[in-house]
Amino acid sequence: MFKPFLALVLAATALSAAAHQHAHTHGLMTLDVAVDAQTVTLAIASPLDSFLGFERAPRTDAERKRVADMVARLKAADQLFQPDAAADCKLTKVELESAALGLGTAHDHGHGEKGEHADIAVDIVFTCAKAADARFIDVKLFDAYPRLRSIDAQVAAPQGQFKRSLRPGAARLGLTR
Ligand SMILES: [Zn+2]
Repeated sequence: MFKPFLALVLAATALSAAAHQHAHTHGLMTLDVAVDAQTVTLAIASPLDSFLGFERAPRTDAERKRVADMVARLKAADQLFQPDAAADCKLTKVELESAALGLGTAHDHGHGEKGEHADIAVDIVFTCAKAADARFIDVKLFDAYPRLRSIDAQVAAPQGQFKRSLRPGAARLGLTR
């Protein structure tokens, strides 16, 4: 009886370790999705380029407006991520973190590691009456951000753990195997 349990724990550990490995590739976003009894949690990691077209603090009024628009749009995350209505979810938390923009608690480690590149992380929590009933999440990010070309998603759901790749025209994230 212990072996399947152990395998599950090891798989979960491997998944969370992998979630922290984020290569900075323009157009590519990673998305970690965890479905529990009453929550659906999404964690985005992306180059800023996909959302802004630049990866540094804004320098002009037009760039400041782009940043403000991005923040407002990401905070309205239930417009960008729409869980299956069967799960009866409501958006309850959005946290943005980007050192280059001074968002969140991220510290700017300087530009030595990645040159002029910079990322943004977004944590989104939906609270749901029946999260386990969610069969999919419709992802609207590609419509909002044409520079985004693909999303590598990792899902941890009651049905299991698996990976999905999303792209424009195929942006429904299935939560069942
Ligand atoms: Zn970059």
